[in-house]
Amino acid sequence: MLALTLDLDGGRAEVRFSDRGDGDFAAAHADSRGGLAAGPWTRLRQQHGSEVVVVAAPGDGDGALADAAVTAAPGAVLTVRTADCAPVALVAREGVVAAVHAGWRGLVAGVVEGAAATVRALGGKEVSAYLGPCIHAECYEFGSGSLAELADRLGSEVIGRTAWGTPAFDIPAAVRRALRRSGIQTIIEAHHCTACDARRWYSHRARGEPERHLLATWISRS
Ligand SMILES: [Zn+2]
Repeated sequence: MLALTLDLDGGRAEVRFSDRGDGDFAAAHADSRGGLAAGPWTRLRQQHGSEVVVVAAPGDGDGALADAAVTAAPGAVLTVRTADCAPVALVAREGVVAAVHAGWRGLVAGVVEGAAATVRALGGKEVSAYLGPCIHAECYEFGSGSLAELADRLGSEVIGRTAWGTPAFDIPAAVRRALRRSGIQTIIEAHHCTACDARRWYSHRARGEPERHLLATWISRS
């Protein structure tokens, strides 16, 4: 598990990225286990889209069709599940957090920008971003035609290269660009490629694994 605790005005934000050691969170009914995050969870039915759900109280929005959740409510545990897509947490010092599931479809749909706008709408001003383990360009081969379309939408920096020299989609670069477009300059990256390290991470793309990691984030007042 990667764990971060961040000071807020009047509390703390917690961010957790699970790894294999924390188990599989693929099931929609996956619940608190291994001490990863206590309290009612908001679990999304992820669509690779740009829908953002606002969570007004712990457990609200559970089962929503969305790819991002945002809250200013202490104790509301926001979760997204990923294997190779990017899990992104947004934390505003004023006391707003977001969990975002961002693959190439979601990035094209603008899920990162949508979540960031919602954080600001709830009063977030000083926002930082945390990018968890996802597939990196070195392992993410992409057809050059589709890649050109993505570059048209997302910028040429999303064009990467695999370790074996073929065109690749660079998810971290696309996430960084979306964050900067949203005025978020503080970006902390885990620099873990899910495809590269089979001992620590699940990868659907590299190994056909059905398991999923969890990103959980919440505000704690104590
Ligand atoms: Zn890799």
